[in-house]
Amino acid sequence: MTDFRALRLHKTDTSAPDIAIERLTTDDLSTGNVVIANEFSSLNYKDALAVTGKGKIIRDFPMIPGIDAAGTVLESSDPNFREGEHVILTGHGVGETHTGGMSEQVRVPGSYLVKTPKALDSRQAMQFGTGGLTGMLCVLALLDSGLKPADGPIAVSGAGGGVGGIATTVLSTLGYEVHAITGRESEHARLKALGAAEILNRTDFARDPKPLESTRFAGAIDTVGGQVLATLIPQIMYSGVIAATGNAGGFQFSTTVFPFILRNIRLQGVDSVHAPSETRDRAWQLLSENVTTDQLEASTCTIGLEQVVDTAGKLINNEVSGRILIDVYA
Ligand code: NDP
Repeated sequence: MTDFRALRLHKTDTSAPDIAIERLTTDDLSTGNVVIANEFSSLNYKDALAVTGKGKIIRDFPMIPGIDAAGTVLESSDPNFREGEHVILTGHGVGETHTGGMSEQVRVPGSYLVKTPKALDSRQAMQFGTGGLTGMLCVLALLDSGLKPADGPIAVSGAGGGVGGIATTVLSTLGYEVHAITGRESEHARLKALGAAEILNRTDFARDPKPLESTRFAGAIDTVGGQVLATLIPQIMYSGVIAATGNAGGFQFSTTVFPFILRNIRLQGVDSVHAPSETRDRAWQLLSENVTTDQLEASTCTIGLEQVVDTAGKLINNEVSGRILIDVYA
């Protein structure tokens, strides 16, 4: 049995995570009917919480972290996936309860996979990664609710992050006027380049909102939760929609029922982990059709397995922006 390299996190009694690059065999992987020769993974907020030990993401040890991966099928007994086919893996507890993408080989049930759209290679797929998929699922929530570009501006919070940056890019490509909310002045030029029409300061949303305020957004994609989400809700126009997907700014927030009753506001949660495979297929297809990875190149930083822990610490401290690609062979 040939061995391969993977980053593995061991249970530890200290707050410092016990993590190392090791040589493993498929016996060390969780079960599944498809083995993937992995090429790229990406570093997401959840991965950063896991590998720094800052969040209780992983409960089964030892664990290979990495909530996504893209590569080619090496072995398969799943009739939907043939050897040599390009595939993308996201969600389903991969990198949490099922060994994940920070590894040269990954084994999963075929139901976790989608075929990589023809326009993308594995590197491009992971430039989008879970962050891109989630950003696109949020955009789909707005599109499917009937919001049109002419209805008014769309606010995107945490725009400097992976999900927010992709949401900004896709919405602006589709003709929506994006008002990007960020806490970092250093992100302004990049967000303009991604298509944001206006840049708003996160501090303007870090306050106690009134139950109803002057309306200025037809909808919103919120990746930070907390006070920012609470302050966005009373500023949404009649019948507007908010797709909420993250809590980088806190998981609790307080609001009143007024915007929901008097303005018919809809708050929709978006979670990529259990999105059905038809929805994931649709989102990947739309991503590949509407965003060129050239648009993302300037927002992409590529690291190897050796740099994961250090970069994860920076991500938690909000010291990196955009998407972080992991080249598992670098
Ligand atoms: P990133 O770390 O790339 O981006 C998060 C952004 O949030 C930061 O760039 C920053 O934006 C903003 N932010 C960070 N800290 C705070 C804070 N204390 N208060 C307010 N804003 C803050 O993460 P991702 O884009 O990968 O993920 C964003 C969120 O979405 C996370 O909570 C993540 O867990 C969640 N998520 C959910 C998924 C799902 O399926 N439900 C899938 C993927 C992500 P800026 O500097 O511009 O202000």
